[in-house]
Amino acid sequence: MKVATIVGARPQFIKASVVSAAFARHGVDERIIHTGQHFDANMSDVFFDELQIPRPHLHLGIGGGTHGQNTGRMIEAIEAALTEMAPDWVLVYGDTDSTLAAAIAASKLHIPLAHVEAGLRSFNKRMPEEINRILTDHCASLLFTPTAAATQTLLTEGMRPEGIVECGDVMLDAALHFGARVAELGQGAARHGLVPGGYVLATVHRQENTDDTARLSAILDGLGQVAQTLPVLLPMHPRTRARIKVAHLFDKLERLCLTEPLGYLDMVGLERDAAVIATDSGGMQKEAFFHKVPCITLRDETEWSELITAGWNTLVPPQNGPMIAAAILAARGRFGEDMAPYGTGDAAEMVVRSLLDATR
Ligand code: UDP
Repeated sequence: MKVATIVGARPQFIKASVVSAAFARHGVDERIIHTGQHFDANMSDVFFDELQIPRPHLHLGIGGGTHGQNTGRMIEAIEAALTEMAPDWVLVYGDTDSTLAAAIAASKLHIPLAHVEAGLRSFNKRMPEEINRILTDHCASLLFTPTAAATQTLLTEGMRPEGIVECGDVMLDAALHFGARVAELGQGAARHGLVPGGYVLATVHRQENTDDTARLSAILDGLGQVAQTLPVLLPMHPRTRARIKVAHLFDKLERLCLTEPLGYLDMVGLERDAAVIATDSGGMQKEAFFHKVPCITLRDETEWSELITAGWNTLVPPQNGPMIAAAILAARGRFGEDMAPYGTGDAAEMVVRSLLDATR
């Protein structure tokens, strides 16, 4: 079986790491195409190195444009690559422009498409990710869902039950595998001069927060207020740094501990040791739960609503700095119910076995 995997952004490298390892165990011929959406060394290379992801067969070098420009250029380049590779499957992850471009290219070439992390919805179509995931799901022949709720969403949208495999969340596989390695290495807060349980780990990168100056300003104000009580570590996404510069918000960073984007092992160590995680990242909301850390999500809605219901995560609409600060401080020591909605950590194995079964 030959599989072309298309990745382009940080969370996709993390998801691909565990699935690529499972492909290798089964002797599958996997060809990775990197679109170039994330291209900085600390947003891309560090993940390939640390997580031992096979080097991409092809690097398309497409990034830096608008959504339309990037997606259009990617469709053209991926179509050419797939025509030459002639894979049995095209495999995509999540909800980025790279995901959508590959879905369109594969479906026009009649190459079966498999979507890992299918069935998620925020029900907010202003998010570019929401459009990407809906369209990708509707192009796919095999839909790998992380939760029962995601499966139900696809059934409600009229998908064929035989095309859905509820495999669990590949990010749980990654959290278990790399979490154990981080624990062995003793990598965590101390590397950053922080005390375990004595700081807030924050990330902000979602377009709806970074590109809206009032929201970005309120988030930085809120984090700055928290920093008067607890250190706040903010690994800064390149988009956030660029927007802070354009909006002249640098003075709001004064109280925060800033770093460049971190490698995954470093990040996992910091997540495990944090008192609270405050984020607009989809992946980090779940990682907070995997590592049993309370989470505040700086958004109006989330795709991972089971974490809200179970009390692990609280949504805070990011327009009001004092409210953000109060929510983060109140979340300390507030743990949710025991539950296991994301499977048992063998999602990658199930993905590969299902693809092999569907190819025979
Ligand atoms: N992450 C990382 N370094 C950082 C920030 C995030 O390794 O400096 C990891 C994080 O642990 C999670 C993933 O990147 O596994 C989340 O990616 P991101 O927030 O960019 O995207 P999203 O999950 O919102 O799609």
